[in-house]
Formats: sequence, structure tokens, C-alpha cells
Amino acid sequence: MITIFFDLDDTLYDQIEPFRKAYDAVFGNRFDIDIYQLFEARSVRGDEVFELAQCGKMPMDEMHIYRIQKAFEDLGYVVTDEEALRYQKLYEENQGKISMSDTVKKMLELCNVYNIRVGIISNGPSGHQRKKAKVLNVGAWIPEEHIVISGDYGVSKPNTGLFLHAQRQLGTEAKDCILVGDNYQNDIVGAKRAGWKAVWLNKRGQDIREEVCQPDYEVKNEAELFAWVRSVCERGMEL
Ligand SMILES: [Mg+2]
Repeated sequence: MITIFFDLDDTLYDQIEPFRKAYDAVFGNRFDIDIYQLFEARSVRGDEVFELAQCGKMPMDEMHIYRIQKAFEDLGYVVTDEEALRYQKLYEENQGKISMSDTVKKMLELCNVYNIRVGIISNGPSGHQRKKAKVLNVGAWIPEEHIVISGDYGVSKPNTGLFLHAQRQLGTEAKDCILVGDNYQNDIVGAKRAGWKAVWLNKRGQDIREEVCQPDYEVKNEAELFAWVRSVCERGMEL
């Protein structure tokens, strides 16, 4: 029996909307900035210190300030510690209002109808990620025990350890697991190293043709992802 694991952030819902709202509220029209570039820079800078913060060597506030300040710096702008924290607070508040698109809901519904087992494998603090899952109402399609969060295990994607924990938690084997995720390094490289199949939701059109590690399948948007899931449901996995 196959299990399709979905990454949470930017796979099951779009992180940019709460990010954009927080940005507009704190910085308004002050900078000439592409919000996607800032978001990407913040993600890269966040990855630099993610492990330090997760194991408690860097206080959370310091991590929050670091990743957004460095992201602004990368684009040539400076923001204060206070602005960075105000932005973070608003971003977290807006995350309390996130939702899944109808396409994603229909996709999970289809998996349920066809008895395809689904799970979530996500990097982040356990309480924070589970709260988001609750706001998104993923429990309508994915049982709590199928949700695997790095914070619970102290090991994160792309580390193979988290994929092994996911296999044990759901009682399955690598050959029967597929990961669907948006982050090339964490999701695709991580899954392939763990011996899983990997489907890449490449929303920003990132070019990885030169890379050794390639996904088994690539989609560019939710509609294409839905079509892939439907084909798995109707015809089985053909990767
Ligand atoms: Mg993601």
C-alpha cells in the first residue's frame, strides 16, 4: 500500500499570502521589492539558522530577526530589530487565518475516496506546525497519527532520519512512500536519499537540470498536482 506524504508549508497551502499581508502592514510602500524575492531570501536565510534554533542554541526571537533582516540586506535594504519582530508577530497572526485552496481540498478528498493513504511530513516546531494543520482543517482528510513533524524528533528534512521516523510512525517502507514537496533541497533531495519517490511542486520554475538528484515527477502548480494525484488514484503509481 502506497502512502503519499505531503510537505505542509507552500505545498498544501500558500505561505506567501500571510507573508504579504504582514509585509504590507509593517513596511508599506517603503521599499521597491519583489515580495517573492524577499520571501525566497528569508527562506534561504532561515535554513541557515533553522537547526540552531530547533536545538535551542539560538533564541527564537534572534532567529526571527536574523532571517528577515538578512533577507532585506540581501536585497539592499536595512530594517530594525523592532520592525523585524513586529513583522514576525503579524506574520504569525496572519498564519492563524491560512486556508487550503479548493484544488488542494479536492485532491485530498480524492485520495480518501480511492483509499490512498496520505500523511504530512513537515519541518518546524511541533506545536507551531500542528496549529497550522489544525487551522487548515487537514484532519478532515489526514489523521493526526499520519502527521510527522521534525520538532518531535529533533531531526529535519533533508536528513534521512526524519524519513525513517515517518516510515516507522506509519508502519511502512521506503519503497511504498512518495513525498510531494515544493523545496528542492529539503523535500526532493531528502526523499530521494531516503529511497522514496519524490514529486516536486516547482511553483517558481526553479532550474535544477544540472543537479545530480532529480525528482521522479515535476508539476508547476496545484492543477497539475491534482492531475497527477488523480492519475495515481485511477491508474496506480506510474513513476
Ligand atoms: Mg515547503
